Amino acid sequence: MNTKKLEIFCDFDGTITVGDTVDLLLEKLALPEWEALEELWQKGEISSGECMTKQIALIQGGWPAVEKVLDTVAVDRGLASFVVWCRQQNIAFNIVSDGLDQVIKKLLTREKVSVDALWSNHLIEAEDGSLSLEIPAREHRVVCETGRCKCQVLDMAGSDKLKVVIGDGRSDYCWARNADILFAKDSLLNHCLKQGIPCIPYESLVEVRVALQDMLLTDSESMGITEEQDTEHYIGTPTTWGGAQVITG
Ligand SMILES: [Mg+2]
Ligand SMILES: [Zn+2]
Repeated sequence: MNTKKLEIFCDFDGTITVGDTVDLLLEKLALPEWEALEELWQKGEISSGECMTKQIALIQGGWPAVEKVLDTVAVDRGLASFVVWCRQQNIAFNIVSDGLDQVIKKLLTREKVSVDALWSNHLIEAEDGSLSLEIPAREHRVVCETGRCKCQVLDMAGSDKLKVVIGDGRSDYCWARNADILFAKDSLLNHCLKQGIPCIPYESLVEVRVALQDMLLTDSESMGITEEQDTEHYIGTPTTWGGAQVITG
């Protein structure tokens, strides 16, 4: 049987955190011009990269002010146990975000969570305390034309991996189709239903862990492997997806 090893690719804002940290920082700390930029971006008059770069430069109070706002941000109740479970199962857990690296690192440290890899934009604090954004150059073939393309990261993972994508919103639209197993909530779920993209709806990462656990079990059973023998946790054909409810639009 053709088996592949699971690897997790998880969005950050709205998926790991409750709400979007970039939006929250702009609402709380940025000069009011950020809203006009947001409108231009929504009308398609500026790119998401240009929009975000200009918006971040409007944040007042520097990193100390950002930290204060971040203290008010909650994370998904299932985060810590999910990441611990992935470690125990030897499954890589990666974060792919269109947000800010320092914000992500700060919240992960607070939650005592470590991840295998993090792809995101880079927040820079100048000596005078002002903040700016650096969007990493595309390291890989351009898959999608707009915004930060998360498909690139999936591409780099290689075809021997069974890619599990977890997301909630607009920044996940591009890689949704390229996931082997997709967990979706909120606007991403609506998008998948409209576009007929197969996905597993979820509310919390607790459900994601339980669904993956079931898939691994179902798969070991179907291959005649006992739980003790299945130390590498390979999973077979994704069409079965264990006992999870797969919605196909
Ligand atoms: Mg999100
Ligand atoms: Zn893409």
